Amino acid sequence: MANNGSHDIAVVGAGIIGVACALRLARQGLRVVVIDQQQPGHGASFGNAGHLATEQVFPIADVSILKRLPAMLMDPMGPLRLDWKYLPRALPWFTRLLLNLRPVSFQNTVAGLRALNENSLDAWQRLLADIQRPDLLKIDGSLLVFERPESRQSIQALQARLHQQQVPVDYWQAGAIRETAPQLSEQIQGGLFFPRTGHFIDPYRVVCELVEAAKASGVSFVQQQVQGGDVQEHGVTLTTGNGGLTASRVLIACGAHSAKLTAALTGKKVPLDTERGYHLMLPQEHNRLPFPVTSLERKFIMTPMSEGLRLAGTVEFAGLEKPPNMERAWQLHRLSQGLFRQDLNAEAATPWMGFRPSLPDSLPVIDQVCGGKVLLAFGHQHLGLTQAAVTAEMVVRMAGLYAFPATALPSGEPYRLARF
Ligand SMILES: Cc1cc2nc3c(=O)[nH]c(=O)nc-3n(C[C@H](O)[C@H](O)[C@H](O)COP(=O)(O)OP(=O)(O)OC[C@H]3O[C@@H](n4cnc5c(N)ncnc54)[C@H](O)[C@@H]3O)c2cc1C
Repeated sequence: MANNGSHDIAVVGAGIIGVACALRLARQGLRVVVIDQQQPGHGASFGNAGHLATEQVFPIADVSILKRLPAMLMDPMGPLRLDWKYLPRALPWFTRLLLNLRPVSFQNTVAGLRALNENSLDAWQRLLADIQRPDLLKIDGSLLVFERPESRQSIQALQARLHQQQVPVDYWQAGAIRETAPQLSEQIQGGLFFPRTGHFIDPYRVVCELVEAAKASGVSFVQQQVQGGDVQEHGVTLTTGNGGLTASRVLIACGAHSAKLTAALTGKKVPLDTERGYHLMLPQEHNRLPFPVTSLERKFIMTPMSEGLRLAGTVEFAGLEKPPNMERAWQLHRLSQGLFRQDLNAEAATPWMGFRPSLPDSLPVIDQVCGGKVLLAFGHQHLGLTQAAVTAEMVVRMAGLYAFPATALPSGEPYRLARF
């Protein structure tokens, strides 16, 4: 176990956020070590929907959801699930979520998400060009479809709200959808097409390619659980199952598990929880869709990937310890029935669950504290893949190393730890 203090920075967490940051920091000449309790990319970054979702500029909840909440929570296989035993622990988080629905807070969140998302595609293109794997990202757009005629009004209202936020969006009639995605059902009435979005053909492979590039740039990877740590005058010491490790600085990028180490190093209690999500990977399904398609009413996404078609979605509040309920992953297949002219083949399908790292204001923490010795990059909720490359550029700028197209990057203000 390295314990020689020769690291400029220790990155804790080898998910998409930690690995993108590690690579960017190493490319600026820093000696970087990445520590993860698992193999890189086996957290939430393993099985997400692969959607570069730059259009998602609204927080996870808005006032309109509140009215539908009771009915949604009563449906055991619905898109939103709360483990009632978990409610007492989640209550402070929900309270903050509700407070963030107040107009000023809501607008701050939208501005914060917009600033990140508007820079996400370019930042990913820069990162993938740097590792010579632009092929991992398809920039073919994505589509949100609706089936019930009465949904037309809400789709149009959404389009108007997105226009206000300058999100590129086009309304597609049923005919245009049939031409572009002919396998979708005739039930589909229309949809919103987002041209400045894209999808990754294999999100786990993206992590692996970044890891390989990071190793080639001198980054070392250590498989250990970080249990705690200390900030000292000359650096940071992390305690692990195998002793300790010292570095001049640390970057906490443990996704949904980041709160404990943040408290240990900074003394700050951050209200981080998890929205558990599921996927079902269908290896028999290739060439069904040209780009990701989300169903407005059924509330899940289908993304074409190199391995097959991935169905993903659902939000489950049940904490980090409870085992997954894989029925929810299989439910995604049932949900897909009727969305295509011919139902999807679930033979040899694999279910998966992951922990979205979510803060109650839907914004991540991207910051540095403790005199610059502790850097933070976590809490990207539904958008960690989308925002990983821009986050890495912000971390490099924050560390005082280099300003990527300086004019383009968002200001760090909305993402400060001190907002809690
Ligand atoms: C079903 C689903 C679909 C999604 N779809 C999308 C999508 O289409 N687009 C999008 O942009 N986002 C999507 N997301 C969200 C996205 O996957 C996450 O925001 C992102 O993966 C978070 O990355 P991360 O690196 O912060 O966390 P993770 O990938 O979870 O990585 C954190 C790492 O930290 C390690 N770790 C934790 N604690 C410790 C410790 N004490 N010591 C050492 N290591 C530790 C873990 O082992 C893990 O490897 C989706 C998520 C889910 C669940």
